[in-house]
Amino acid sequence: MNDCCFARDLLPLYEDRAVSPETAEALRQHLSQCPECREYFKQVKHITKSMQRQTATPDYRYSEVARRIRRYRIAGIAAAGTVLGLALYLGAMLIINEQTGGEA
Ligand SMILES: [Zn+2]
Repeated sequence: MNDCCFARDLLPLYEDRAVSPETAEALRQHLSQCPECREYFKQVKHITKSMQRQTATPDYRYSEVARRIRRYRIAGIAAAGTVLGLALYLGAMLIINEQTGGEA
């Protein structure tokens, strides 16, 4: 195993700032001398960014979707309540009309 193997194993952690200051310094020194690992690190940063975008966007969408579902559900319950109330009222009126009509 050479330095590049260690560096490439640690670069994702370095990108996450999850390495000690000494390891970070050693990695910076290695990157300054090793074009292959610099290129690899660019890819690590690119992947990390795209993963952050992918995880950030759904969170936003889920909360937005949940908010809209709640709004539509409330509107739906209100509409269903209105329709049910109207049906009960009309049904009651029909029954009352029939009863009063039959008696008269
Ligand atoms: Zn290297």
